[in-house]
Formats: sequence, C-alpha cells, structure tokens
Amino acid sequence: MDTSDVICNDFDDEMMKIAVDYATISIGKGYGPFGAVIVDDKNNIVGGGHNLVSAESCDPTAHAEIVAIRDACKNLNSTLLHGCTLYTSCEPCPMCLAATYWSRIERVVYGNSKLDAKQYGFDDSFIYEELAKEMPERRSPSQYFDIILIIHNFSTFFYFHNYT
Ligand SMILES: [Zn+2]
Repeated sequence: MDTSDVICNDFDDEMMKIAVDYATISIGKGYGPFGAVIVDDKNNIVGGGHNLVSAESCDPTAHAEIVAIRDACKNLNSTLLHGCTLYTSCEPCPMCLAATYWSRIERVVYGNSKLDAKQYGFDDSFIYEELAKEMPERRSPSQYFDIILIIHNFSTFFYFHNYT
C-alpha cells in the first residue's frame, strides 16, 4: 500500500507521538531508536515499549514492536490482540510484521519507512530477499528432517486438546 493511501486522524497523531516518545527514551538509554504503543478497539493504551536489543539484554528479538506486543498480551492476559492497533515509530521488520499477524493485530500505523531506516543502517531488505529464495539457497539453509516422532507431537497435541 502506498503511504498516501493511509488515512490517519488526530488520535493516530497522538498515539504516534507516544511511540516516538518511547523511541526517544530508547535512544537515551542506549538502545535502538524505535518505540511502539498498542491501543485496543476502545482507544485504550494496552501496551507499549521501546527497543531493548543490546549486549546486556542478549535478545536480538527485543524490537520495540515485540516488546509492545508482549506487554499488551501480558496486560490483557491473552495471546490475541483482536481489534488492536500497533503504532510504531518505524515500519515493522519482517519479524515484527509476522508478530502482528500471530497476535492478530488489526492495524499498523508506522512513522519512518524501511527505506528511511535503511539510510541509517537499519537495513532489513536482505530478509525479504532471503524469503524469496528456495530454502536450500538461503544464508541459513533450512533442511527437512524426516522423523516420525516429530509428527507424533502434532497427533499428541491434537489428542490432548480434543481437536477433530
Ligand atoms: Zn522488528
């Protein structure tokens, strides 16, 4: 979608300012310049946070969006964020975009684009290129391992959860 297609309102503007505030706090603490906030369908803030990737955190997945999703899920005691909007200071990387789908976030509003981020050294284009390749051609090749015990986990899960 072209960014000109997005219709934002005063509330979006207010929430984006909070996401940017998180990013500013993040910079002050020595983390990456990224912040995010999550709002439910009644415009209540249900989660938020900033980037926490550092040598101390030892967590390369602690992007602002992931931090905010974890916070919102904890606050709502759920793994699903139906009806929620994610406001993030920068266009989500593929990992964070995937997390929005897994958490069922309905809408994403972002500030800087991935091209803006690339200019400052936050380049995730190689991940999109990797996704387009066949698995054996990827930088970290994925290989299928045929073992009956692994599929057995699925059948055990379905048995205990009474799925049909
Ligand atoms: Zn990310």
